Amino acid sequence: MSNEQHVHCLIIGSGPAGYTAAIYAARADMKPVVYQGLQPGGQLTITTEVENFPGYPEGKHGPEIMEDLRKQAERFGTDIRFGMITEADLSSRPFTLKADDGAVIKADTVIIATGASAKWMGLKSESEYNGYGVSGCATCDGYFYRGKEVAVVGGGDTAAEEATYLAKLCKKVYLIHRRDELRASKAMQAKVFETPNIEVIWDNVTKEIVGVAEGFSKRITHAILQNVKTGEEKQIEIEGFFVAIGHHPNSELFKEQLELDDQGYIVTKPGSTRTSIEGVFAAGDVQDKTFRQAITAAGSGCMAAIEAERFASSVHS
Ligand code: NDP
Repeated sequence: MSNEQHVHCLIIGSGPAGYTAAIYAARADMKPVVYQGLQPGGQLTITTEVENFPGYPEGKHGPEIMEDLRKQAERFGTDIRFGMITEADLSSRPFTLKADDGAVIKADTVIIATGASAKWMGLKSESEYNGYGVSGCATCDGYFYRGKEVAVVGGGDTAAEEATYLAKLCKKVYLIHRRDELRASKAMQAKVFETPNIEVIWDNVTKEIVGVAEGFSKRITHAILQNVKTGEEKQIEIEGFFVAIGHHPNSELFKEQLELDDQGYIVTKPGSTRTSIEGVFAAGDVQDKTFRQAITAAGSGCMAAIEAERFASSVHS
């Protein structure tokens, strides 16, 4: 039996961009279908308090904001599906996309809002101990390291935020950065510097994460660092190691079909969410390497839905 479905507006991804696009598309009667992807709700679901999303004067937890956005999208009739789009053929309209639930979707318009994912350093020991002391998300895993000593790698807002979050739970937090100044915003830097149990280790890279096997499990015991200026090596005793070195755009599925920049971000026309293929729009972090904020993602999701609606009306009129 064919599982082919015709959809006016297919939205791929369920972060602030995807859900905002859904709210607008649903209210424009485009009957959008959202495929949520691997991480329903996107990156905000792995943060704690968000203080800069307009409308929440006291701040609000990321997962709660995303729950609100999901409900708002559903309120106007969005069909939200748990699953992934695994194949995309954008060579002719309607576009043909396949999902892991077996659906073959013929879409008049596609909004790509697949976001970005955390980067890893690429050490063998980093993957060997992933889930056994190495983590990419302090708010997810920090709880396991209460009262212990941990390290965070990176110098951006994510690393600063993770370090200050962990400092509330852990005895000590080393913030390891490869340069002698942080990239994080001044406000986040101030929080790091005024937290007494964060020690910043400047000009150092991680050479290895070392641990021990314990029965069927394993745990980490220390990390070996190297000073990039002097070459000197040192060891820090830690039980948790959090990698916070940035993100890469989730554009893999489209790389042979859409124009991407040299870092893999989908290229959109200036002031627009239009991609190199008419009828395909991109919103949020998958096309934004500059701002990467929840609110800018939401704004571009709104733009994408409006542009998709205008496009659909222009081809059908
Ligand atoms: P960034 O790209 O801003 O920072 C990545 C950091 O990791 C940099 O300091 C970089 O070093 C370092 N790094 C990169 N690769 C390696 C490596 N292989 N080994 C060691 N260190 C490495 O990413 P973030 O995730 O921190 O932030 C992304 C965006 O999200 C930013 O725009 C940020 O402002 C925003 N954000 C905002 C938040 C908020 O407003 N609450 C919270 C979190 C993020 P170097 O500096 O030398 O390049």
